[in-house]
Amino acid sequence: MKLRPVRGTHDIFGEEINKFNQISKVVSKNAKLKDFREIQTPIFEFSNLFSKPLGEHSDVVLKEMYSFEDRNNEFLTLRPEYTTPMIRAAITNNLLNDIPLKIFGIGPMFRRERPQKGRYRQFNQINFEILGTKDVLADVELISLSNIILNELLPRNKIILNINSLGDKHSLSNFKKNLAKYFNTHKKKLSNESIKKIDSNPLRILDSKFEEDIEISKSSPKIYEFLTKEAKMHYENLKKSLKVLDINFVEDFNLVRGLDYYCNTVFEFKTNSLGSQDTLLGGGRYDGLIKVLGGPDIPGIGWAAGIERIALLMESEKKINSNVHIAVTNEKFIDYFLHLQKYLSENKISYYWNYKYNLKKSFTKANSSSASHVIIIGENEFNGNFYTIKSLLTGEQKELKLDQIYNFLNDKSR
Ligand code: AMP
Repeated sequence: MKLRPVRGTHDIFGEEINKFNQISKVVSKNAKLKDFREIQTPIFEFSNLFSKPLGEHSDVVLKEMYSFEDRNNEFLTLRPEYTTPMIRAAITNNLLNDIPLKIFGIGPMFRRERPQKGRYRQFNQINFEILGTKDVLADVELISLSNIILNELLPRNKIILNINSLGDKHSLSNFKKNLAKYFNTHKKKLSNESIKKIDSNPLRILDSKFEEDIEISKSSPKIYEFLTKEAKMHYENLKKSLKVLDINFVEDFNLVRGLDYYCNTVFEFKTNSLGSQDTLLGGGRYDGLIKVLGGPDIPGIGWAAGIERIALLMESEKKINSNVHIAVTNEKFIDYFLHLQKYLSENKISYYWNYKYNLKKSFTKANSSSASHVIIIGENEFNGNFYTIKSLLTGEQKELKLDQIYNFLNDKSR
């Protein structure tokens, strides 16, 4: 049988891993600036952690979870998203004694979706959550944080922020009833998939990708008309603050997000450069979810972004190569070479060596990798207790004592 990775999974290396590392660096830096604490949770949890809150009718629960029965009849699931595990961790580690709690995490998620560009069965997410405040400024802080991170990583013209409000429970249940009524009267024109959702989950018809559904949704009732006074005020305040911060957004009344637990603010950063997998980041408020999971009745809000999708949009970094290559002419000089290695490591100078005691081969490799310098270790160097450094840019060659190498390499006039 041919050796291959599992469908929908991928190995991350080369340019992509450089991008991943850069994303992680930018995320951690900004998390620190805004005082979010990092959490890493296990990649699997008890299945009911997900099935209850994610909504029995959502796609993730119905079709996409990787679940299995463990030996002692426990049902376990590879996490399909990060919000519920984070809340579980906050509850079980008593972190909610000190709220608001600001946490973030980065790691792999698993969904059995149909793989395509930007959509995998194992993919990586960045997640930020604020637990324990209803204040609209928490919504603003999270949106502004995502805006800063994405703008630091991506060209500005590639992304657009969409926002909407789903209102509170009362607004939402009223809206759902009216929506179901509307879709029932236009049932014949809907896709088969959407017809099944009319009574169970009419909201999901609004973000259907089928043309016929999009057409019918255009004239459907809008959630905005059903918002309670309080929910409307929350939404208006959100928009006001985003304007103060100069964060551009568009209102999308059909933005409902896939998971069942959202209320009030929902938002997504989208791009038009990735085809149908156009959402880079999505989030929203989930007042009520923490209680459903067995915690206190406190509100929460968060977002998740897909690292693979961000990486797809990032411009390629310059190839990261070691600029300094080493050429050792004979195994006799191993100890002398080790002194050089120790010196270079202590001085944080990255270097490359091809494990070949052959001057010609080392130079060929250095030239093909566009190295800037080659440090040569041979009979003369060993006997004279110096190292020869050759610049491949100018051809200049110099004999240096070990402790002169750092200054030589860092002399920008060279
Ligand atoms: P969601 O939890 O569905 O709101 O997803 C949040 C973000 O995770 C999305 O905006 C995507 O960037 C990313 N994402 C979700 N599902 C996948 C997937 N199957 N493959 C790659 N990225 C994904």
